[in-house]
Amino acid sequence: NEPYLEIRDLTVAFPTADGVVRAVQGLTYSLELGKTLAVVGESGSGKSVSSMAIMGLHDSKSTRMTGSIRLGGREIVGMPADELKHVRGKASAMIFQDPQSSLHPFFKIGDQIVEAYQAHNNVSKRAARKRAADMLGRVGIPNPARRLDDYPHQFSGGMRQRVMIAMALVNDPKLLIADEPTTALDVTVQAQILDLIADLQQDFGSAVLFITHDLGVVAEIADDVLVMYGGRAVEHGTVKDILGAPLHPYTWGLLESIPAVSGESSRLHPIPGTPPSLLNLPTGCSFHPRCEFRSQVTDDLCAKELPDLVARTDQAGRASRCHLAHPDLIFADEILPRLP
Ligand code: SF4
Ligand code: MG
Repeated sequence: NEPYLEIRDLTVAFPTADGVVRAVQGLTYSLELGKTLAVVGESGSGKSVSSMAIMGLHDSKSTRMTGSIRLGGREIVGMPADELKHVRGKASAMIFQDPQSSLHPFFKIGDQIVEAYQAHNNVSKRAARKRAADMLGRVGIPNPARRLDDYPHQFSGGMRQRVMIAMALVNDPKLLIADEPTTALDVTVQAQILDLIADLQQDFGSAVLFITHDLGVVAEIADDVLVMYGGRAVEHGTVKDILGAPLHPYTWGLLESIPAVSGESSRLHPIPGTPPSLLNLPTGCSFHPRCEFRSQVTDDLCAKELPDLVARTDQAGRASRCHLAHPDLIFADEILPRLP
């Protein structure tokens, strides 16, 4: 299967008065149609910045971007803004944690979906309204034709999330990017929205890029997982690999901090310390100030040298960025009994 999304050595940086914010560095991954990749990390890991780059949402004046993002064979990096407008919404669409990011509070939802549809299709208003109502029905909004003339505030949080998904999917995009879409919802509604996204993916055959800090959500929805830290990929593998036998100390830390019930705010074993500043990343392995395995690597190499992202030859798609030669051997025995 040809990948629909291919990212190669992507770097995104924002020059500021205080220095250069290195939000994403050397990021490489690909995603096929019909598959869901979860990009996982704390805030400031680069997961949202990289997904916004795929959508062409960074202002070219304030952003320095190098590397390659190919979407259905077309290069996004360096694409002129007017061309990007045609790609956005049609080839890829995005849903956010807060529906206000895509739904304007002062306009009827039907008009907003109609406008999104007509931006890419030369159809009558009547046909576009029909399409909007069909999409609302498809995402589980009762009496869809009658809800077209309602405003966003007339929907509950979960229903508003569905309206936003309907609008994102109205042009049948091949790539759906979901950035923490369920974080603000209660657990029951969150599960419904995850089910809906999985259902729609089946029907539409699209690729889904799911951005989250919550490994509990990952277990529900992902095929593959990319873990990011300090703007770089630190681990990649299937959902079974990542949740069952993580290779990287940071991934292990994330797993240990999954709350017993997904959505509950208390953490079991939070990772000590805070995520690094992207203005001033630690030397060597960005995770070294927080890593409990640093002392197992000789010569304080963790503080001196950035480890490569090394692919494992024995497991396709499996890679991690850590100086420990065989971290899996060290972790497996300790961690497996503790998994749910
Ligand atoms: Fe920890 Fe060193 Fe591995 Fe970084 S390279 S994750 S500091 S053991
Ligand atoms: Mg974010």
